[in-house]
This record gives sequence, C-alpha cells and structure tokens, in this order.
Amino acid sequence: MTTVAHPAATASATRPLDEARTQLAHAVDRLGLDEGLHRMMAQPRREMTVLVPLRRDDGTPTVVTGHRVQHNFWRGPTKGGLRFSPHVDLDEVRALAMWMTWKCALVNLPYGGAKGGVRIDPRSFSPAELERVTRRYTAEILPIIGPEVDIPAPDVGTDEQTMAWMMDTYSVSRGHTVPGVVTGKPIALGGSQGRAEATSRGVAHLALLALESRGIRADAATAAVQGFGKVGRDAARFLAEAGVRVVAVSDADGAVADEAGIDIGRLAAHVDRTGTVAGFAEASAIPASEVVLADVDLLVPAAIEGVITADNAASVRARVIVEGANGPTTTAADAILAARDVLVVPDILANAGGVIVSYFEWVQGNTALWWSKGEVEQRLTRLLEEAWEDVRAYSARTGTTLREAAMCRAVARVAEAQRLRGLYP
Ligand code: NAD
Repeated sequence: MTTVAHPAATASATRPLDEARTQLAHAVDRLGLDEGLHRMMAQPRREMTVLVPLRRDDGTPTVVTGHRVQHNFWRGPTKGGLRFSPHVDLDEVRALAMWMTWKCALVNLPYGGAKGGVRIDPRSFSPAELERVTRRYTAEILPIIGPEVDIPAPDVGTDEQTMAWMMDTYSVSRGHTVPGVVTGKPIALGGSQGRAEATSRGVAHLALLALESRGIRADAATAAVQGFGKVGRDAARFLAEAGVRVVAVSDADGAVADEAGIDIGRLAAHVDRTGTVAGFAEASAIPASEVVLADVDLLVPAAIEGVITADNAASVRARVIVEGANGPTTTAADAILAARDVLVVPDILANAGGVIVSYFEWVQGNTALWWSKGEVEQRLTRLLEEAWEDVRAYSARTGTTLREAAMCRAVARVAEAQRLRGLYP
C-alpha cells in the first residue's frame, strides 16, 4: 500500500493561511472596507497552544501539541471542528478558523469561526490512547470553550466518539452534563438526527444544483471524489443515489476507478473491512493524483487543503467542482479555473451543511427539544438553497466567481456586526 503525499510536502505547496488572507483581502477591496477593519479580520482574536502529556499503552510518557484558535466573536460564540492529523500546525488552524467565520456568516448562523488541531496521526494511536489525548486536550483548553463561548465539532481524524469524550470531560469539570459544549455527538448523548451525514448531504445537494445550472442532468453525469471519510463517503453515496455515475474515488492510501460506475455501497463495505479504498477488487487501481484530473463532469475534493494548484488546474477536466474539503483550491488555481469557465462551488458554501446541522444540534441541546430527521433535513435544505441563490445572484450582479461572491456576502455580514457593536471602550 502506498501512502499519498500530503500537498504540504510537494513543491507547489501554498500555505492555507496565505490563501485565506488573500481571499479576505480581495473581499475587503471589493467591499471598500477600511484598513483597520481588515486588520481586525485578518488575524484570530484568541488562540491557545497546549502541550498535551500522554501515557502510551506501554507506559511510556510522551507529549503532543494541540491548538485552539478562535478567529472572530462579533456574530456570536465561535464554532469549528477539531482535527487530529500529523500535518496540523498553528497557521493551518488559523486558516481553518477564519474560513469558519465566513462559512457561519454566509449561511446566517449566529456564530464566529474557530478550529482546533492536535498534531498526531490517529491511526498510530490505540482507542485508549486517543481517549486520553482527547480528554487531556479538552482539559487544557477548558478555560476557552463552552456552549456560549466556543463549540468544537468533528473534523479530519476525529468523530462522534471524540465528541462524546470532550463532552464528558467538560461536563465532569462543571459538575453537570453540558450537551451544548460540542456538536457531532452520538445521538444517544444529544446528537442531532441527520448530523453525521449533513456535510455530505449538503455537498451532494449543491453539486446537483450546480450541475443543473450548467445544463448537466444528474443521470447523465459522472463524478470523481477525493477522500472517502466522513464527507467524501456519503457525498459519493448521495450522488450515486441521485443517478450520478461515480467513476473514481481516492483516499490517503490509494485510488480506484471504474468507467461503468463504482458501487459505493460495496466500496464502503470494503473500506469498513480494510480501512482503505485501495485493494477494492471491483474497480481498477489508479494513481491517486489522477482523481483530481479525471475526465468527469463533477469533481468533489473531500480530503485536505491545497490539492488543486497552479500546477494541475489547467489539466482538471471536470466542468464543475464542489469543495467538500476546506481550502482544496489555491487562489492561483481559482484564476486558471475561472478563465476556463469551470464552475467552482466554494467550500464555505459547499460544505456548510455540517455546521448548519451542528447549529441545529446546539439549539436542540440548549432547549432540550428534539427534532425529527425530516425536520432537520428540511431546514438544512432551506438554509443551503437560500445561500446558493444569494451567492449566485450576487455573482451574476457583480461579475464575480462564486467564491468571490460568497466571500463578499460573508465578510460584509461580519463587518456589519462589528459596525453595529462598535469598539469598546
Ligand atoms: P475524515 O478524516 O473523515 O476523512 C478524510 C479522508 O481524506 C480520508 O478518506 C483520508 O484517507 C482522505 N485523505 C487524506 N489525505 C488524502 C490525500 N492526500 N489524498 C486523498 N485522500 C486523502 O475527514 P472529513 O471529516 O471527511 O473531512 C474532509 C474535509 O472536509 C476536510 O477538509 C474537512 O475540514 C472538511 N469538512 C469536514 C466537515 C465534517 O463535518 N466532517 C465539515 C466541513 C468540512
């Protein structure tokens, strides 16, 4: 099994924080906002770096590094995922926190953005070690999280079990159960119906709208999906259920392709057994780098940042890209894709389904009133479609790409909140 290189290790690597700041600078320019406001939005309001001591299963003590970054509080408490990955660094967490601010504003949630990261490879830790890391990291960042302060959720390398441990650790410290401190919890602990697949549901829903806007019918469309984790796997499933032929899929360990369409259910069963898409006998193995360049109508990057760059954007053959991942396309690649009339549905819109249903989970937890799956899905679809229409209308009116339009709508809302609140003292 070969492991796919992380983009940060390749020559064309750009730093996500530079990308995030460039996108903000363009929006500030377009909106004519002043430099002071720009400076306040270009950096996080609060960040905490912690050393997390850990006892490995063999008794050896070690220490790992964790971060929590809160980018902006103007619209409400901060919200954002927790990532366990060997590639985590503070600047990456800062970029991801900033993107969360824009995402929450774009879909009108009463939150600012945050993100957390712990620099470990979760695959080389036992479940008991992961529990100890999670609980100790939570204990270290305890002073700056809470249901009215900052609310973590799952991201790369973490899941609902991680959230259950965080919720329990926080609750023990408070002396009572506090379900609203995290979202993405198991349903048995106050998780929301529909949360687990919300990001993927949103990605697939917007992908179908984007294809339709280009005159491509779902049942005549082909797709490639990069990443087969919490986002990519169900996005591929929902697309296949809508009639799209998913012809290429990759993960960190390999990639498979089948022109006739991959049976996503059977691929998922293979991944449950083996931990990777590699070795799936019902499709051919292909180099992982080819998934982004596949000859398809729709490309869904749903893994990590910086995978569509100036180096490969001219060779991308998809007509529509829907960003399941955060920050998969660099600014230089965006320009190349726009010049080639490739429609890019940006991350802050495309993958907002997860934070939308996280918000629903937080509302349900705080009010102790539970909604049905149908109610959750209906509300999710409404918020996403409103944002899609809003961004499309702004883009058409101003001649901007969907990313530029989404950034302008989001940054304008955050700036408006600041104007109304004023500066204290
Ligand atoms: P995950 O850990 O569940 O899955 C990540 C997947 O990407 C895995 O299949 C992994 O093998 C694969 N991968 C990693 N490196 C790769 C590489 N170099 N090439 C190909 N595949 C690779 O994480 P996730 O929660 O699915 O998150 C994926 C992306 O979606 C991230 O950018 C994350 O920030 C974003 N996102 C997640 C959510 C959510 O609700 N989980 C919400 C919004 C955005």
